[in-house]
Amino acid sequence: MIKSENLKSVLTNYGVEVYEKQLAQFDVFEKYLREYNSHTNLVSAKDAELIWEKHFVDSVSFCRYLKNNKSYKILDIGSGGGFPVVAEAILLTSSTVFALDSTAKKTNFIKNAAEHIGLKNLSVINDRAEDVSHRKSYRESFDVVTARAVGNLAQISELALPFLKLGGCFISYKSAKVTDEIFEAQNTIEIMGGSIEDVFEYNLGLEEDFIRNLVLIRKEKNTPDAYPRSFSSIKNNPL
Ligand code: SAM
Repeated sequence: MIKSENLKSVLTNYGVEVYEKQLAQFDVFEKYLREYNSHTNLVSAKDAELIWEKHFVDSVSFCRYLKNNKSYKILDIGSGGGFPVVAEAILLTSSTVFALDSTAKKTNFIKNAAEHIGLKNLSVINDRAEDVSHRKSYRESFDVVTARAVGNLAQISELALPFLKLGGCFISYKSAKVTDEIFEAQNTIEIMGGSIEDVFEYNLGLEEDFIRNLVLIRKEKNTPDAYPRSFSSIKNNPL
């Protein structure tokens, strides 16, 4: 239980009281992911060795901004092997959480994992973000959007901000080298109706890749209907 004690102390530093049941859910998820990863490639073999130290400790940094005594409608874009979306569902028990990924094997895994862990507040959407956000039922309907390791800040801001209600926030998980990305994303963020409210740097305490950043973007104006554009335009024609 040493790894779970470490996660508990990280959460305590964010002011979060975590229950044994929730730590047990992280434990069940780790074992399930490792077993699933042996037949379906979700995370690299090296990363599979660092699920607690790297992926869980990084995932829970949303606790800097989101509190368990509140109820949010959350969308995680590009959830992959479940980071940070499974941690959101475990810790934010009053919230409704959606995992969006364009790859069916990833959303199938998350759906199966949620059932296995007993997370009733986690659902999946298997589709592309740039298509889903043009649908009326999803557009400007979320309190919070998160994304970890999905494109650069300009690209992911164009995908994420159209999903947010006015006053909602986008939490973008970034590596150490965030300054250039922020500079290059300024125009996109403004066009999408957002503005950067905070940048939070933290340390995972690992030997490499240890400095991480969260960029918090607030939705202040409605996003024009033309956005997001097709993924090839987002990629090839930065705003
Ligand atoms: N968030 C996870 C993490 O931190 O480990 C996975 C990151 S993985 C590098 C990126 C994921 O984003 C992939 O699973 C991919 O299928 C998904 N993805 C990329 N572009 C997408 C899009 N436009 N819409 C939905 N999912 C997308």
